Amino acid sequence: MSGRRPVRSLAVALLLLPLAAGAQERPEWREWNRPVEPFRIFGPLFYVGASDIAAYAFVTPEGVILLDGGFPETAPQIEANLKTIGSSIEAVKILLNSHSHFDHAGGLAELKAKSGAQLLASAADAPQLEAGGRGDFAWGDQGLFPPVRVDRRIADRESVTLGGVTLTAQLTPGHTKGCTTWTATLEEGGATREAVFVCSTSVPDPEAYRLAGNPAYPRIAEDYQATFERLRSLPCDLFLAAHGSFFGLEEKAERLRKGMGMTHPFVDPEGYRRYVERSEARFRELLGAARASASAAPTTTTNSPSSDGRPASSTSSSDSRP
Ligand SMILES: [Zn+2]
Repeated sequence: MSGRRPVRSLAVALLLLPLAAGAQERPEWREWNRPVEPFRIFGPLFYVGASDIAAYAFVTPEGVILLDGGFPETAPQIEANLKTIGSSIEAVKILLNSHSHFDHAGGLAELKAKSGAQLLASAADAPQLEAGGRGDFAWGDQGLFPPVRVDRRIADRESVTLGGVTLTAQLTPGHTKGCTTWTATLEEGGATREAVFVCSTSVPDPEAYRLAGNPAYPRIAEDYQATFERLRSLPCDLFLAAHGSFFGLEEKAERLRKGMGMTHPFVDPEGYRRYVERSEARFRELLGAARASASAAPTTTTNSPSSDGRPASSTSSSDSRP
């Protein structure tokens, strides 16, 4: 009987997990997690995520690199999508993550268990992935997800290669301390395109993020600023990101499906430039307000989750997405 005990303990532990991110209790989370038909974007790159919560598969002769795991509820969709594009979860050899939030890292534990893939993550986000979101600098224990072990920590500008496809980590911290934008030069029929997979530059909850005087993340404002500079420095043809809403996923996918236009819908350097510009303007506005309120009442601000005790993500604006 002793052999059964660990299984039972695990089941009990799972039942005891706070009803947080995995429960999909928010209508907008379900809306972001609608299943969509997977499709090839360019060369080895396929979209295998949901309606807004992105996941990308790089299909190579030596196996698949999978970027992001979505919510816990997205994992089965990703697995099914891999099958639809003629691959499989078992083919996944390397798992990558944009950042350690429940809506992008929630499915990693299941995807890792089913694939046996190695999970590579930034040194600054790895502890959050292994803690299942516990102790987040902004949300405390409010955005939990199944913890997942990180096999290797990667540094800024470090590259990961499989089957002729190379992805490079561009650390773009602020949204999380180890937020990682991935870049890749992709090839299709002799043509090459520079792809940028933006982590996120949003300040999803200005109160909890506390851009000025934040003892849990003293360098938060400097990190965001360096991130905008880094993003501006990256060459970008294919503009992609952790949330489809950042780059107009559904509209571009529809155009790709219909074969409309002379140019590839996802080749959008101008859209990328506008996204970075808009996002930075919003950040500066919030930073100004945070500095003003920090100097007005330096001792009364506290880190607190949104009023209902869940990570804030209630508006339709993509600036507020976690
Ligand atoms: Zn996030």
